[in-house]
This record gives sequence, structure tokens and C-alpha cells, in this order.
Amino acid sequence: MTGSQSSARDLFVEEARGVELTAALSNLPLSHLSDRIARGELIGSCPACGGTDRLGVNPGKPAWVCRGSAGGRDAIGLAAHVLGLDASRAGDFLEACAAVLGRPVPDGSTESEDERRERQARIAERKRQNEEAAAKRDREANDFRAAEQARARGKWLYAKPDGQHVVYLARRLDCYAHELPIAPFLRTSANETYWHGKDDRDPRAVPVELFTRPAMVAPFVAPSGHVIGCHLTWIDLDRRPKFRPLIIDPKDPKGEPLPSKKMRGTKKGGMIPLVGFFELDGLILPDPHRPRFVVGEGIENTLAIALVEGPRADTIYASAGDLGNLAGPADAKGRFAHPTLKKADRNGVLRPVWVGSPTPKPEQAPDEALQAPPGARDILLLADGDSEVHATASAMARARTRLEASGALVTVAWPPRGSDFADILALSSFGQ
Ligand SMILES: [Zn+2]
Repeated sequence: MTGSQSSARDLFVEEARGVELTAALSNLPLSHLSDRIARGELIGSCPACGGTDRLGVNPGKPAWVCRGSAGGRDAIGLAAHVLGLDASRAGDFLEACAAVLGRPVPDGSTESEDERRERQARIAERKRQNEEAAAKRDREANDFRAAEQARARGKWLYAKPDGQHVVYLARRLDCYAHELPIAPFLRTSANETYWHGKDDRDPRAVPVELFTRPAMVAPFVAPSGHVIGCHLTWIDLDRRPKFRPLIIDPKDPKGEPLPSKKMRGTKKGGMIPLVGFFELDGLILPDPHRPRFVVGEGIENTLAIALVEGPRADTIYASAGDLGNLAGPADAKGRFAHPTLKKADRNGVLRPVWVGSPTPKPEQAPDEALQAPPGARDILLLADGDSEVHATASAMARARTRLEASGALVTVAWPPRGSDFADILALSSFGQ
């Protein structure tokens, strides 16, 4: 190689190093990536490893990751990964630079025909290895999910249909136990341990047992009727007004109390069956003769409406478990800055809090959010009035648009600000 060739290559490499992730994207085989996540991340299959949503590129950070196998911050590394090149080899590294810049390595290729064939064979072999490793990781993730679902199902199966949850619900809704709408799939686990301290970011963290007390156990049911998860609500009958324990984090005693509700197994795409479901061969299915569907975030809120309505014989009552499962994923393009709320970032600088778009993400899979029963023509969505109002309103608008796509009539019911429907029931009868 002559001196001028090498300095031309040095310049070429320097130029490639200066290309930002965003600029390199259009030169790489990545036009299929879509911004499916509100955080500005582009997601899609990896040209080298396959999958459906394995590769994530966040041009804003900048960072890219191919789940479980590779990742980094620079465009050359990304190019090498998706093209199956080995950036530690000089020839491959120059090819990756060429891909990033969108033009060939200067001064022609010194690669012979044999070298080129050898490189192609190496790329093919690397691609095969990547795909094999990715398929193995997928199988392991699926096994893990199936095991988690089985554990959650077992928790519900071994809980008792009669127990403290009946007293809890009667106190929450301020009625007699015999007046409660019959929700045959709710159960009580008499001794449910509350584990805390498991941290996904720190695999060495060991969860500790905070306490053991009764909990209400509800199943999460997939549209197929299978129980895929469970919802736990710890109970403290002596603690008004919510009758749930105050749970202090021993590591952060002055911080926010820990949630008294938890979910296990899979929640997304499922729902908690309350009234209007039947059991058949181990499956829990909505009654197809009930055209009306009432659904809220919480069990208590939805049962409060069932209580004041009768419950109605034409209605299926269910809970989504949380707002995310009710609303479904948002269109990444429509997120907006909260008009007033700000949050300090790592450096203490106040940044606006982003609110998910009121528009649903296009082309959602059925397991990304709760699905209405197939025969539902008239849907009532129950909003929570005690959550942050902008985020809740945007999420409810999203749920409404999403569920209207089936042709059903969808209405959103709002409780007075600062309360939920269960609170209103309790308050109205205090006044009697
Ligand atoms: Zn990959």
C-alpha cells in the first residue's frame, strides 16, 4: 500500500467515525425499523439475527442494541453488526466504514476474488450463528414466560373462593357482603408473602420477605380463556379508607410507600373476569349473550359500577389491571410534553414529563392490550379520577379509539376529580 493510499484510508475511517447514528441509518439495510416505542426508539428485526423486535436503535441517545447479543453507541459498530462483519478485522472494519458513509473504500479494493469469497462465506456463517443464538434466547424467554404463567395460575388455583376478599370488597364498597355483585373468580390467599427488593437491573439483588398476610387473588384471562397471570391485592381490614396495608420500603423509609397490588405472569392482552363470565373445561370465557362491556383499571372501581347498576344481566364486567393494559400502546409520533409537570434528570436538570399520545400505535398485536369480548357492541370505560389527569385523559382517549375500531359504541365515564367510583359509593352512604 502506498503512503497516499493509507492516508486516504485514514481520512475515510475518520470520516466514518464522525457519522452520527441518525445519518448512518439511511445507508444501512434498516428501513424496516419503525418507531414503535414512545421513547424515540426505532425497533424491528435484526438483519443479522432475525426476530421481530430484536434490534433497537435510539438515535437521540445515541445507542443501539441487538437484544441479548450486541450493542453500542457508534454507527460503525451498528453497521458491522447488521452486515455480519467482524470489526476487529481490518478488511471488515473498512467495509463497515464504507457502509456507514454510503460509498466504497477509496483506491479500489485490494481484495482478491478468493478473499472476497472467503469474506462472504464468513458473513454467511456469522449470520447463521447469530440466528441460532437468537432462537435459543427466544426459546429460553418463552420457557421463562410459560413458567411464570404456570406459577401465577397455581397461585390463583390454590386460593379460596370464600375468604377475606369478600369482607374487603364489602368494606371498600360500603355494602353488606350479600349485596356484593357475585364475582366468582375472585379468591383469597390466606397467607400471601410480599417479596421486595428484586431488581431487574441488578441480578445479584435478593428479594426479601416484608410480611405475610391475606391477599385477594384474581386471574388474568387471555381471549382464549386461559389463565395467563394473576393479580394480588394485600388486605388490611383495620386500615381505612382503602383497607390495604401501608408498605414501607425498608431501604427507603422516607420514600413513597410500596404498592399493595402486584401482578404475576402475563397481564397484557388479558383481563380480570368479574361478572358475566362462565367456566368451561378449565377456560374462563365471557357470556356471548351479553352485548354490553364495562371495564375499568381496578377491580374495586368496576365492581362499584356493577353494584350500582344491579349488576345488569346484559353486561360483562371486567378489570384491565392497570391503565397501560386498558389504553394499549401509543403512537410514538404523538407524544407531548406535560403542560406543567417536570422531572429532574440524572444531572438535576428539570425536563418536561412526556405523556403518551392519545392516538393508538398502528398495527398492534392482540397481546399488547386488553381486547373487548367478541360480541361487545356497547362499551363503557371507567376512568380513575385520582390519577394524573393529563396522562389519564390521553390514555382513555387512546383506549376509546382502539376499542371503537371494532365498530362498538364506546363511552368514557369520569368520576369527580380526585376520587374513584369506589370512593363515591363509600362517601354517598356515609352521608345517608
Ligand atoms: Zn442482531
